[in-house]
Amino acid sequence: MDLKASGQEHPLSRILETVRLYWGFDRLRPLQEEAIRAGLDHRDSLVVLPTGGGKSLCYQVPPLLVERTDIVISPLISLMKDQLDALQACGYPAAALHSGMTSQQRRQGESFIASGKCRLVLVAPERLVTPWFLNLIQRRSIRAFAVDEAHCISHWGHDFRPEYRQLAVLKECFPDASIQAYTATATQRVRQDIIEQLRLKDPAVLVGCFDRPNLIYRLVPRQDVRTQVRQVIDRHPNQAVIVYCISRSDTQSLAAHLQSRGVRAAYYHAGMKADERRKTQDAFSNEQLDVIVATVAFGMGIDRSDVRCVIHAAMPKSIEHYQQETGRAGRDGLEAECILFYSPADVLRWKSLLEKTAEQARNRQEVLKASVELLQQIRRYCAPGRCRHKALSEYFGQTYQDVNCNACDICLNECGELEEGTVSAQMILSCVGRVGQRFGIGHVVDVLCGADTERMKSVRHHELSTYGLMKTTAKKVLTNMVYQLVDQDLLTRTNGEYPVLRLNKASWQVLRGQRKVWLVPPKTGKVKKTAHEKESWEGVDGDLFESLRRLRTQMARERSVPPYVIFSDAALREMARRRPLTGPGFLSIHGVGEKKLSDFGDIFMAHIRAHE
Ligand code: ADP
Repeated sequence: MDLKASGQEHPLSRILETVRLYWGFDRLRPLQEEAIRAGLDHRDSLVVLPTGGGKSLCYQVPPLLVERTDIVISPLISLMKDQLDALQACGYPAAALHSGMTSQQRRQGESFIASGKCRLVLVAPERLVTPWFLNLIQRRSIRAFAVDEAHCISHWGHDFRPEYRQLAVLKECFPDASIQAYTATATQRVRQDIIEQLRLKDPAVLVGCFDRPNLIYRLVPRQDVRTQVRQVIDRHPNQAVIVYCISRSDTQSLAAHLQSRGVRAAYYHAGMKADERRKTQDAFSNEQLDVIVATVAFGMGIDRSDVRCVIHAAMPKSIEHYQQETGRAGRDGLEAECILFYSPADVLRWKSLLEKTAEQARNRQEVLKASVELLQQIRRYCAPGRCRHKALSEYFGQTYQDVNCNACDICLNECGELEEGTVSAQMILSCVGRVGQRFGIGHVVDVLCGADTERMKSVRHHELSTYGLMKTTAKKVLTNMVYQLVDQDLLTRTNGEYPVLRLNKASWQVLRGQRKVWLVPPKTGKVKKTAHEKESWEGVDGDLFESLRRLRTQMARERSVPPYVIFSDAALREMARRRPLTGPGFLSIHGVGEKKLSDFGDIFMAHIRAHE
């Protein structure tokens, strides 16, 4: 057997030695070894690992081990910059070529690549197919490509990028080169599309486990979203938090509200100019901002590994989106909270947005049907009931063994029991009947609350028997109940611009007392600490940890790199637990390699020594 060709000449110990030397990690994560071996073997592969699964390491290790130059195709300049910073901080010889560089930087990069010492070249797809680059690949006999965020090639993915389509030429131009495709997108259709578009030959398909045990999932009925969001942010002082909203205007008003309460927050959406977006993203990366309030547009470019909380101020439009967005939390492996404030009103809001989007599509009915189906799936996920980790794993076609995940609102027993709400439901439904089934949610709620308004008088609804019938219930709670009834199909809300409430068959069963109604009670916002959280803080000197974080920020400013490039939170927590004071001790910290020991060891150890 040809050892060189099989990759067996690189035993695991050699791989680990390299990983330890550059990155300071002692172990490989699931499937990293298999993916690295495929890279060493020049075998095409499709590697599907969840966000934070450690995909980058898989394509960074092979060229180091065999001393060759590989190419990584990346969709965003910001991603390339961050990755290059991180690689250089580890002493890894890499270069990037993108349109955001000065001509001098580009020349430097090019001559470094030409010298043969560069192990990894990060490029944008459009740059890859230029004559200069194709020529370089030929001259340097480059034979391995890694395609990061490979789902961008697929129409079915959530981040389709037309320029990725050009990558189809790779196999034509370089038939004996291998391609490693990496993605976190789990759907079968996208995976197949990637294989076809990139023309992968007999690829090793490596699909990781999609469960993220360090993420704590919580679903909370939405009442007063501003207060609720603020309460969650208060649980994460000085920590990185992302809040997702449905619309651009929602992001702006929520960010303004948080700022007015002293939170270092900013908004982010696709309607902003590119440089404004970039500035906001940089400020978040550099820890000048703690909270980003964003639409789905805030995504791929975020490499900050210490995001401790992802809040959904409203339901996202699919479980895929939810998984992708929550995936940005806790990439450093430490505990992180993912909380979704759900209201059945979100389903209706999405439906009307999706109808508008579908209008522009050629196959309108088909597009609408598919997106409504995705919406129903996330709606079912939001209903109280099953363990969130289990539900997510099963959605992505994987089995979940744990009986109690100890990391979701259901298993932590935080959600409280469903309450019988038959009498409240009857009051609401009879009010819908009294107003002639001709009014919307707002008005029905006003009648039940006994609102003293001109409009009420003009339609003489203050004379109805249901007027003020539920005035002791808070308006927000009441509105939420009405939405819950709609959500359970116990009441119909018509489509169109002015939706009204109508009674249906099920409403009559409730009114006649033939059917009970269960409602989710309003929450107190109390949360429990998970076992994972307690464990990861065990023995950690909290003051020292905070002070090491400040030192890291200062080091990062001096070097103009994002702080997480210097050390992850996980590494700092371990330092604050073990207080290393010698070189070998410092090197044994998870995430400290030779280069980081020599660059930062002395100063961090002096800081630890000085901290009593
Ligand atoms: P992905 O691209 O899959 O989202 P990354 O490659 O950005 O994930 O890795 C996520 C984090 O995990 C990074 O901070 C990285 O340094 C870290 N990481 C990767 N591999 C390992 C490992 N074997 N042990 C510990 N940490 C790792």
